[in-house]
Amino acid sequence: MSYSIDTLCVQGGYTPGNGEPRQIPIYQSTTFNYESAEEMGKLFDLESSGYFYSRLQNPTNDIVADRIRQLEGGTAAMLTASGMAATFYAVFNIANCGDHVVSSSAIYGGSYNLFAVTMRKMGIDFTFVSPDCTEEELNAAFRPNTKAVFGETISNPALAVLDIEMFAKVAHAHGVPLIIDNTFATPINCRPIEWGADIVTHSTTKYMDGHAGALGGCIVDAGKFDWMAHAEKFPGLTTPDDSYHGIVYAEKFGKEGAFITKCTAQLMRDFGSIQAPQNAYYLNLGLESLHVRMKRHCENAQAVAEYLAASDMVSWVSYSGIPGDKYYERAKKYLPHGACGVVSFGVKGGRAAAEIFMASLKLASIETHVADSRTCCLHPASTTHRQMNDEELVAAGVQPDQVRFSCGLESADDIIADISQALEAARKG
Ligand code: PLP
Repeated sequence: MSYSIDTLCVQGGYTPGNGEPRQIPIYQSTTFNYESAEEMGKLFDLESSGYFYSRLQNPTNDIVADRIRQLEGGTAAMLTASGMAATFYAVFNIANCGDHVVSSSAIYGGSYNLFAVTMRKMGIDFTFVSPDCTEEELNAAFRPNTKAVFGETISNPALAVLDIEMFAKVAHAHGVPLIIDNTFATPINCRPIEWGADIVTHSTTKYMDGHAGALGGCIVDAGKFDWMAHAEKFPGLTTPDDSYHGIVYAEKFGKEGAFITKCTAQLMRDFGSIQAPQNAYYLNLGLESLHVRMKRHCENAQAVAEYLAASDMVSWVSYSGIPGDKYYERAKKYLPHGACGVVSFGVKGGRAAAEIFMASLKLASIETHVADSRTCCLHPASTTHRQMNDEELVAAGVQPDQVRFSCGLESADDIIADISQALEAARKG
């Protein structure tokens, strides 16, 4: 029986049997018991599935990963300790020293830093393209050693909406997968796999957990990319892995399972950025109401964006639900039910006025966080994106006077009243 996404949020991934716990159990155990060395040996050879050590896999995590897999419409999924770990693993699982990746320039500042600084130190090069680039411009960014294309459905904090279908088409024409970070849209508002994405990542720390309670990440494989058809590009998936007695992931686990199995068996084994099962439990509680909360986040953001657009104290507003917004038309295609709860805008009077505005807020708090139940805001240029120079800031779609305003689940009237009094304080200077 197939269920709607609302039902999958509540019940996907876990169907208890007779007398079993109704809520998912937390397997708070580092290790698992076996009756013979031979049986355990089969796990080490990836001959049978099962658990042996929670640095690689844990049953609680797998229940929750499976729920997110179902929400995204993929074939395999895994949880990671953070969204950053998910991004790193998703790329590093297929790109190694000497390889190259094409990425949208409008991505989360931490991901930009991971690519432009840390992974470059590992010998992986990145070319950043505008999220609004043409097909020709995107084509021109490829090299013979390009292994993946990366972008965000709705970028943090620029709120650029990616033309996922076009990015997927170009990536596939070059024989590489498209990796999409779907954190801001969540599968409630966009399912990138339906538009051609091959791998979907999440910072589950944001809307999925939804309460600023548990850090986490997730990787979902669409199971559609044919690694064997491009075997020379992806030797990690298509040639024997000596650390598991020479298995070839793409042969043994097929298109549906190769990516996540390799990512778990190699990267999680070696780097160990596993999500704590307790965090997976909290994440699961968040997922149960994701569909209800996303609707409210979007309603509140729409009301706030409309208020800001009409205010004489606001120099610009970015929200794809506002007619005339740069991404309004694209959002109609990719985000027909709403985008997310985050609105960006500039306070008239520039940086100084933005600072007074932020300091005057009473309900909304100043936080690096975004996308949870409580309204919060941030000045990206001086915080999350402070490692960028002005040129890089503009390429990432961040203005120096930009306030990123994350609408929570409170009453829209109260959020707007708070904004209104803080804008008046900024007017007075
Ligand atoms: N991707 C996006 C779009 C984000 O907004 C963030 C964090 O803000 C991350 C990835 C990184 O996630 P985490 O903070 O869970 O490591």
